[in-house]
This record gives sequence, structure tokens and C-alpha cells, in this order.
Amino acid sequence: MIPSTHESKVSQRFPPERMKEVIRLLSSPSEIIITTHHRPDGDAMGSSLGLYNYLIKKGHKVNVITPSDYPDFLFWLPGNNKVLDYENTESESDILIQGADLIFCLDFNWIKRVEKMEGSLKNSKAKKILIDHHLDPEKSFDFIFSYSDSCSTCELIYEFIVAMNDADLLDKSIAECLYCGIMTDTNSFRYSSMKAQTHRIIANLIDLGAENFRIHERVYDNSSESRTRLLGYSLFEKLVVIKEFNTAYIFLSEDELKKFDFKSGDTEGIVNYALGIGGIRLAAFFTEREGTIKISFRSKDDFSVKELSSKYFGGGGHKNASGGYSNESLDSTIKKFLE
Ligand code: 5GP
Ligand code: MN
Repeated sequence: MIPSTHESKVSQRFPPERMKEVIRLLSSPSEIIITTHHRPDGDAMGSSLGLYNYLIKKGHKVNVITPSDYPDFLFWLPGNNKVLDYENTESESDILIQGADLIFCLDFNWIKRVEKMEGSLKNSKAKKILIDHHLDPEKSFDFIFSYSDSCSTCELIYEFIVAMNDADLLDKSIAECLYCGIMTDTNSFRYSSMKAQTHRIIANLIDLGAENFRIHERVYDNSSESRTRLLGYSLFEKLVVIKEFNTAYIFLSEDELKKFDFKSGDTEGIVNYALGIGGIRLAAFFTEREGTIKISFRSKDDFSVKELSSKYFGGGGHKNASGGYSNESLDSTIKKFLE
């Protein structure tokens, strides 16, 4: 049972006047694509599969297409076996994208974040619905539900389903997916984006059957030995602390990643250890992959890493958590960062 205080709050982000057309579009069986950003994380996959499990229950034909692979600690998510990775299914996925009536774009703000899928998405005549919580969304979607004050896209998907007047369709599978994304994007419910309202949603998800302890274990206590050793190596050998700038960073070359048998997701969370040092307000994590340097930034308080990554590293994200990239060498990228 959804408390009534809840529904009134929900309608602010998905108000009836904006939902009317979406409800109409979803009132008869449609061909739907759900996609998310390149190298999807827990929120990207949780929101995509949470929405997937809801939409198939409503009788739609739905395909989830990710622009790349994603960490295996997310493979337990209900519906995971139906996901198409665009990198392995390009022609099949292009046909599905071109034939779609509707495309849900989840957990990203710029179409270029789907990388190789960008052309196919742009060519599709399908109506595009953005549901996201990053700053500064691009305007080229037919419907934009973008709320940077939301902790996660999974929270927005929950509110979307309630605003569709379908709270009674919420079930264990949907709840597990949405719990996972809220948990991972708030670093286990600890960021300032985690409001009392979000805790109420989490309580509802547990009531619906999401087993909180099991989901934490599947995501966080499921590392390979080499991943744990890579963390140890990163902290012991590759952490640089610059006290006078309240800054710490960690960098890993492609060879180092290979040495530790790197798999997608293995470096997730390492940047938080740099930020976890007392007095540090800016943390960065650099990895070299396929000739490109991928950077994760984290900050405390008012320092906006979103500004830093969009101004200097072609990226974006949130005020205290953002990412970017560089096509220069690892050394020159770090030099540019230090400057
Ligand atoms: P992470 O460091 O965990 O990869 O990403 C932190 C946040 O920044 C996430 O919300 C992510 O979506 C965003 N982000 C990461 N990389 C990029 C990027 O290259 N461009 C943009 N616009 N956002 C990014
Ligand atoms: Mn997210």
C-alpha cells in the first residue's frame, strides 16, 4: 500500500498534465526500447530493468539495449538475461531501434553518452522519453523528466510508475531492480541526495519483497580475488595525496589493469577511498582503457566536479560526482589535472 503523502510528492515530478500524453502513448501495446549510458552502473541497469519488468507486465514488447557491457555483479537483476549489448548485436539492435514506437533514455543527459548507438538513436522516428537526474539535459527528447535533486534514476522510475497510476503493478522483481540503483547511486544511502522521502520509497521496496541484505551482498560482497588485490595495489602503490590542495588521486595504466585481470566494474568505488582521507575535498581516479583515459571525480561540499569535468575533460554529471575523459596520455592527463 503506497501512503498518500507519497503520491502527492510524486506528482510534482510527473504531474498529471505532463503525464497525460505519456499515459496515452502507453495505453496500447507498443514496441519499446529502453537504453542507458555507456558502461552502465547499478542505477543505469536497475532503472532499465525496473522499467522493463513494469512495461512487459503492461503488455508491451520491450527490449533493453546497453551501449556496452557492464559489471557481472549486476547480472542477478531480474530480466538481465534479456539485455542486448549493442557492441555484440549491432545489426539486430539497429533494426529494433528503427522499428520502435518509443525509446526510454535512462540515467544520461546527452545522447552522445550512448557512444556507438548515437547515430541509430538519432535516426529513429520513435518518441524519446528522457528520465534522468544529471545536470543540464540536452533538449532533443520528446519528453524530458530530468531532476538533478533526485538521488537516482531508479527513484524517478518508482515515481513514474506511481504517476502512471500503476502502483499496484509494483512487484518483487521491479523492487529489486530499483533498490539496487538507489543503493549504488547513494553509496548505500549516505549522500545528501538521500532524502527522508527516498527512505520511504526504500521501505516500500522492502515491503514489496526486495531483500535488502541479499542485494547488498550480491553487489558489494561478490568481488573476485584479483579485484580485491587491485584495490590494495591502487591504495598502496598508486595513491597520490596533495595535502595543500586538499586533493588525492589514483591512476592505473592499461598494463596494470591487465596484470590484475581487469573486468568491467572492477574499479568501481576505488575513487571513494581517495575522498575518504580526512581533509581531502577533491578526489580523482584515472584509468587507461583502449587508449583513452577515463576519469572519475568526487568532491565534498561546494566544490563542483561537474564544472571541472565539463570544462576540461569533456564530461559532466553531478556536483559531487562526475566523470570525463581525455585522449592524451595518462601522464599528460594527470599534468593537465594538476595544472
Ligand atoms: P563515475 O565516476 O561513477 O563513472 O560517474 C560519476 C557520475 O558522472 C555519474 O553520474 C556518471 O553518469 C557521470 N559521468 C561519468 N562519465 C561521464 C562522461 O564522460 N560524461 C558525462 N556527461 N557524465 C559522466
Ligand atoms: Mn544515476
